[in-house]
Amino acid sequence: MKITGVETYVLEGLLEDKVFGWSQRVTDRRQAALCAVSTDDGIQGLGEAFYYGGPARIVANLIGDGYAPLLIGRDPFDTSVIWDFLYNWTRDQGMKGLPISALSAIDIALWDIKGKALGLPVYKLLGGPYRNRAHVYATGLYQPQNVASIEDALAKEALGYKEQGFSAMKLKVGYGIEKDLRYVKALREAVGNDIVLMVDANHAYNAAEAIRLAKGMENYEVYWFEEPVPPEDIDGYIEVKQKSNILIAGGEDEFTRYGFRELITRRAVDILQPDLCAAGGFTEMMKIVAMASAWNVPLIPHVWGTNVGLAASLQFFAALPHFPERRYPAEPFFEYDRSPHPLRDGVTQERFLMKDSYLDIPQRPGLGITLDMDFVRKHGV
Ligand code: CA
Repeated sequence: MKITGVETYVLEGLLEDKVFGWSQRVTDRRQAALCAVSTDDGIQGLGEAFYYGGPARIVANLIGDGYAPLLIGRDPFDTSVIWDFLYNWTRDQGMKGLPISALSAIDIALWDIKGKALGLPVYKLLGGPYRNRAHVYATGLYQPQNVASIEDALAKEALGYKEQGFSAMKLKVGYGIEKDLRYVKALREAVGNDIVLMVDANHAYNAAEAIRLAKGMENYEVYWFEEPVPPEDIDGYIEVKQKSNILIAGGEDEFTRYGFRELITRRAVDILQPDLCAAGGFTEMMKIVAMASAWNVPLIPHVWGTNVGLAASLQFFAALPHFPERRYPAEPFFEYDRSPHPLRDGVTQERFLMKDSYLDIPQRPGLGITLDMDFVRKHGV
C-alpha cells in the first residue's frame, strides 16, 4: 500500500454568546485542524492536530506544505520509520510545538489506515484493551463572560454536569489566588463532597504562588492541580509537588519522548498528561507510555478537540496500561471536554455520548469514525 495524498481541513466556529475565558485569555471562537491521508488502496486515514492560540491554519500548513510531500509513495504501515524521518526533517527548529502537533495528526491518520486495512480497531494494534469504556470527567467551568455573578454561573454549570451523571469535573483557576479560592469554595459547596473536583491553572503561577494556592485548596478536597507553573519550569513543578498535598498534573504542553523524559525521570509530576494530538501521535505516545511505565508515573491523557481527536484518544486510552498492574488496578480518568465547541460533534457522522459517567470505546476498524464532509465544507475556512 502507498500513500497517494494528504488533505488538510481548517474549520472555525464562533462562540457568539458562549465566549469564555481562562487564566491566559478570552476566546470568541473554536478552530480545528484535521487531515486525511489517502492511499492507492482507497483507504483514507483521519487525524487531528492540537494547537493552542491558533490560527489552526498554521498547523494545517505544516501538515500540507511541510510534511505531505515527504509522505507520497510511502507505505502507511511504516509508522515508526515515517515518524523518525519526519521528526528529523524538522528537528533543528521543530523539537516542540506545532511541528509535533502536525506530525501527530499524520501519525494518527496512518494508524487509522492500518486499522482499517486490517479490519481492527487501533487499540488492537497497540497491544489490546485494558478497558473497553472510559470513565470520564467533564472539562468545562471556564470563566463565563458577561454574567452577573461568576460564582453563581459556575455553580449552575457544575450542577448541570452533576445532573447529567458526571462524577468528576475540572475547574479553571489561575485568576489570582483569592479569586481562585472563592471559585473553588463556591463549586465545592454547590456540588457537595461526592464529586471529584480537579483544578487547572494553565500555568498561571510561579512556584511560590502555586504552593500558596495548593495549601488554600486543601480544605476543598481537590483531586489534582493541573499546570500550576509554566511547562519550562520543571524545578518549579518539583517544588510545588514536594510542598503540595494535592496531586500535581501536567504535560499537555510537552512533546515527544525527549520532552517527557525530563518530566518522567525527574519525577516532576504525579500525573502525566500528554495529548495524543500534540505529543506525537500513537507512535510516540506508546514510547512515552513505556517510559512512564518504567518510572511508574501514572499517565492520564489530555484530550481537547473535535470528535476526530476524541476518537483517536479513546483508542489510545483503551491501550493505556495500569500504573501499576495489580489485582484491583486504579482506573484512569478520561478528559471529556464539555466547553462550548460548535465544531466538536458535527465533524464526524458518529456521536460520542456519555452514559453513567462512561464513554464506550468504539470497536470499529481504525479510529471508528467517518468525516461528515457536508459539515466540514460548511465550516471550512
Ligand atoms: Ca489543561
